[in-house]
Amino acid sequence: MNLILLGPPGAGKGTQALKICKSFNLTHISTGDLLRDETKSESELGNQIKSIVESGNLVSNEIILKILKKFIDGNNNQNGFLFDGFPRNKEQSLLLNKLMNEINFKLDGVIMLDVNKDLLLDRILKRKKDEGRADDNEEVLQNRLRIYLEETQPLIEIYENENLLIKIDGVGEINQVNQRINTRLESL
Ligand code: AMP
Repeated sequence: MNLILLGPPGAGKGTQALKICKSFNLTHISTGDLLRDETKSESELGNQIKSIVESGNLVSNEIILKILKKFIDGNNNQNGFLFDGFPRNKEQSLLLNKLMNEINFKLDGVIMLDVNKDLLLDRILKRKKDEGRADDNEEVLQNRLRIYLEETQPLIEIYENENLLIKIDGVGEINQVNQRINTRLESL
């Protein structure tokens, strides 16, 4: 099974992704995590993207494709992938289709975690305390939210038209939200 996890920053994608991957034996691919690993390693690419990631802007599609291919090539989980934080715009969704065709995989569903805007800021500020991410502050969040609404949200309609959308109420306890997701995935 191959899935995409969509949702605004602070919707709880990372937390739910780990649980879904554990329950359904999927490989978690978080482009955000891969980019943060790259910046921490202080590689040439890492230094090139550090300021972009910290400002909340999107890294170029070429770079995203490069890190994704590198990850997928080094991973042979035949059971499937959960894409978290990718695709983030229309062009990336086309890139994903191409990538999936190349490895003979098909997309089975797109989970959309729905959380209202006020709650997002609370969650992000709490995460800043716990994880210390440089892009978890109010100013950068506004930028990330704007980009989400402009570039990522239009994907929802696309996947809805393809009958792939699984819309989940993301408000509630972590386990409660996870249960909602599992119930829908088990009936796929
Ligand atoms: P995330 O951990 O998914 O919130 O991503 C953190 C940051 O990494 C984003 O604000 C972007 O700067 C960058 N990023 C993550 N995924 C992508 C992507 N698919 N395309 C472009 N930039 C990305």
